[in-house]
Amino acid sequence: MQNSYQVIIVGAGPAGLASSLTLSAYKIPHCIIDANTTSVLKLGDALPPNSKPLLKQLGILHLLISPEHIPYYGNKSVWGSEDVQEKEFIEGLHGSGFLLDRLHFENQLRNLIKKNKTNFYQGYQLKKVYDREDFVEALIQKDTKTTTLNSKYIIDATGRKASVARHLGAIKHDLDTQLTVSFWHQTPKKTPRQIWIEATENGWWYLSPKATNEVNCMFFTLREVLPARNNMPMFLTKELQKTRQIKTIIKPTDIELSNYKIMASGTSCLEKPYGKNWLAVGDAAFSYDPISSYGITSALASGFYGGHAIAAKLKKEEDAFITYRYIIENGAKSYLKKLMHQYNMEQRWPNSTYWKNRLKQASLV
Ligand SMILES: Cc1cc2nc3c(=O)[nH]c(=O)nc-3n(C[C@H](O)[C@H](O)[C@H](O)COP(=O)(O)OP(=O)(O)OC[C@H]3O[C@@H](n4cnc5c(N)ncnc54)[C@H](O)[C@@H]3O)c2cc1C
Repeated sequence: MQNSYQVIIVGAGPAGLASSLTLSAYKIPHCIIDANTTSVLKLGDALPPNSKPLLKQLGILHLLISPEHIPYYGNKSVWGSEDVQEKEFIEGLHGSGFLLDRLHFENQLRNLIKKNKTNFYQGYQLKKVYDREDFVEALIQKDTKTTTLNSKYIIDATGRKASVARHLGAIKHDLDTQLTVSFWHQTPKKTPRQIWIEATENGWWYLSPKATNEVNCMFFTLREVLPARNNMPMFLTKELQKTRQIKTIIKPTDIELSNYKIMASGTSCLEKPYGKNWLAVGDAAFSYDPISSYGITSALASGFYGGHAIAAKLKKEEDAFITYRYIIENGAKSYLKKLMHQYNMEQRWPNSTYWKNRLKQASLV
């Protein structure tokens, strides 16, 4: 493969793919790098209906019309009161959304990159990025093999870590310390594929049954609320006991907690989503609280607008990155308003550390 491009994209998730599709439409020579040799299962599978116009614009709506992904009609939730509520999207403008088979979706994205014959460095990890004034140099590594690539611009699509931006000295701010504890649970028979959300005193639960007998369970709380690792099973069992609905789907005494994962899931953003020769898209630029179900749609949207911004910059349109920043910040403002509304609806535990913090975060709007 060549080692000089107009643009290097680091990260082959939804944001990287949308950037690549946009650059391909402009016939701009570019490559994509991803640390994983094959697709990996990422968490989160709810794609709301308002993603449809964007999916169509990107020419990938057809990927979702596949038996692995099923219609998503809305969540069942216990939030703000003891009652079960059901919000139906179907009454809205775009009908239903999609409940993704996330691994299949990531595979579909990779296949599209290959089909477009975009140079794809799979299994290569970005090690260093150097700003060489007129161009950027990226050092990537697969096993013991190191390769140097250079380009006029580099797109950071590395997700929450924002690796490219950080290498180039950018600062990412965390608006809070929300973490997710995620684990899988086997049920004796299939559970209907319906997302359940339930607020409890120390956070909230998200339950997503899969096509198999597996259910993905996530508990969202704050770093300061989580116990030490050896107390985690007891903590989660207790938290599950406090639910009204979730515990009727997965029995607290049956959960197997030897294999849970903890990851960041709060709101975070780069101080500025671009620099002289780089631009951040997706979670790298702005990471959303999963309660919003904004992550994938927003990653695709910022990848799309980011691709246009790079194309404009290559045509010497000096304001292109400023316009991109405006788009990102506008989207973030509208998200923070909706986030405030969502967390404000839950007022049952005014003295809980978790809920006090959510309201404080919401008041930043
Ligand atoms: C617990 C949880 C639940 C969620 N639920 C939902 C949901 O229901 N709906 C929704 O829309 N969103 C949800 N999200 C958010 C959603 O998953 C993300 O917003 C989305 O994946 C962001 O896409 P991205 O392309 O920006 O980053 P990612 O999908 O994270 O892709 C980044 C890519 O960059 C690669 N990479 C990273 N570092 C390097 C490196 N140094 N070198 C090379 N490659 C690198 C990675 O391998 C990866 O493939 C959830 C997130 C979490 C944490």
